[in-house]
Amino acid sequence: MLNIILCGAPGCGKGTQSALLVEKYGLKHLSTGDLLRAEMQSGSEVGNKASEFISQGNLVPDAMIIEILLKAVDAESKDAAGFILDGFPRTVEQAIALEKAFEERNNKISFLIDVQVETEELITRLLKRGETSGRSDDNLETIKKRLEIYEEKTAPVNDFYKGLNKYYAINGIGQIEEIFGRISEVIDSTK
Ligand code: ADP
Repeated sequence: MLNIILCGAPGCGKGTQSALLVEKYGLKHLSTGDLLRAEMQSGSEVGNKASEFISQGNLVPDAMIIEILLKAVDAESKDAAGFILDGFPRTVEQAIALEKAFEERNNKISFLIDVQVETEELITRLLKRGETSGRSDDNLETIKKRLEIYEEKTAPVNDFYKGLNKYYAINGIGQIEEIFGRISEVIDSTK
């Protein structure tokens, strides 16, 4: 199986690129942001708890998101060519749990792709998205908080995968198709 982590700061384009990867490589897309928003919309207990963290720009607790993610992995594993993980792992603790869980399932994470975009551009994109997304976390104050948390908690995940020799970085600036070309090149070069 081809199991790819798509990593990058909020607004880097992970969601857009994931949709293209699903089409080209037949992978299943698991976005923890989408899974959490579905929980919130359904008004579940987990969803209500998560919304307090999310609207403040904080991460939800590791134990909660690990359980949600692995449940989705197990539900979607049958007939899967592989997964694109979008928004997970976002902490080193999550990365360690993920590696262990995949090993227990006789599976493995192929590699992580880091989609790099500078902060100014991220803020511009997220504010623009906020005009139409209706998301409680797409406002300037919360965006700044999310970017800080990205640097503090999620950037170390990149180092963790560098240490495993499973890290690739691509430039996330340009046309959508152009960026997709860069990601595809990484995937095809590892086959
Ligand atoms: P972004 O556009 O910031 O990449 P997502 O849609 O992936 O946002 O996630 C939205 C919010 O959901 C995050 O800011 C965070 O509060 C929560 N969240 C998503 N994935 C995780 C995770 N792996 N660990 C903790 N919190 C998460």
